[in-house]
Amino acid sequence: MNIILLGPPGAGKGTQAKRIEEAKGLVQLSTGDMLRAAVAAGSEVGMKAKEVMAAGGLVSDELVIGIISDRIDEDDVQDGFILDGFPRTVAQAEALDVLLKEKSKNLDVVIEMQVEDDPLIKRITGRSTCGSCGEGYHDEFKKPAVEGKCDKCGANDFQRRADDNEETVRSRLVAYHEQTAPLVDYYGKTGKLKSIDGMVAIDDVTAAMLDILS
Ligand code: ADP
Ligand code: AMP
Repeated sequence: MNIILLGPPGAGKGTQAKRIEEAKGLVQLSTGDMLRAAVAAGSEVGMKAKEVMAAGGLVSDELVIGIISDRIDEDDVQDGFILDGFPRTVAQAEALDVLLKEKSKNLDVVIEMQVEDDPLIKRITGRSTCGSCGEGYHDEFKKPAVEGKCDKCGANDFQRRADDNEETVRSRLVAYHEQTAPLVDYYGKTGKLKSIDGMVAIDDVTAAMLDILS
C-alpha cells in the first residue's frame, strides 16, 4: 500500500507516519529528512537546498522529484511507503503520477490532516527529536516519560531543527497555503482523498488513520 500524508508543517505527519510504519509495515519517506541529511553531509543536493530550507521556502521541484524517484526504486519500499512532505506542489504531484505509472506502482490513498494555523506555531516551536532513534517529542504535548531520556531508545540526545523558529514557521505556512494546499483539490478529483481532524490528541489521529487504512 502506498499513501500520502498531506498537511502543513506541524500537522503531525511525521508523528503519524512513524506509527503507521509500525502498525502497517510501510516505510516513511520524508523529503524533509532526506534533504536535512543531504545538508548535513554537505552533498551537492544539500548545498542547493540549504538556504531555501533555512528561509522556509520550497526547494526546486526538480531536485525533490529526483530524490523521490531514486528512493522508491529501493528494495525496502517495495511493499509500500508513506510519503511525508511530498508532493508539495501541483508539479510534484503530476511528476509523481508519471513516476508511479512508469514504475507500475499505485497510489492507494491521500490522507489530508486538517489543522488550524495558529496552534501549529506552538507545535513546531516546541518540537524536538531523539537524535539517536528519530522519535518525535513536544515540550508540552508529548514529553518523554522520564525527563531527558528517550522513551524508545533511552538516549539523552534531544535535537531541535534550525528551521523550527517562529519566523521560519510563518514562511513555511505561507508556502503551504500558496503552493501545497491546491493539492487538496488535485487529489479530491481522483477520489483518493480522505480528510481527518488533525487537531485532536495524537492517539485519536492515529486511530482515525488506521481506520482509513484498514
Ligand atoms: P509534521 O511532520 O507534520 O511537520 P510533526 O509530526 O513533527 O509534524 O509534529 C509537530 C509537533 O507537534 C511535534 O512536536 C509533535 O509531537 C506534536 N504533535 C503532533 N501531532 C499532535 C497532536 N495531534 N496534538 C498535539 N501535538 C501534536
Ligand atoms: P519538512 O521536514 O517536511 O518540514 O521540510 C523541511 C523543509 O524541507 C521545507 O520547509 C522545504 O524547504 C524542504 N522540503 C521538504 N520537502 C519538500 C518538497 N517536497 N518540496 C520542496 N521543498 C521541500
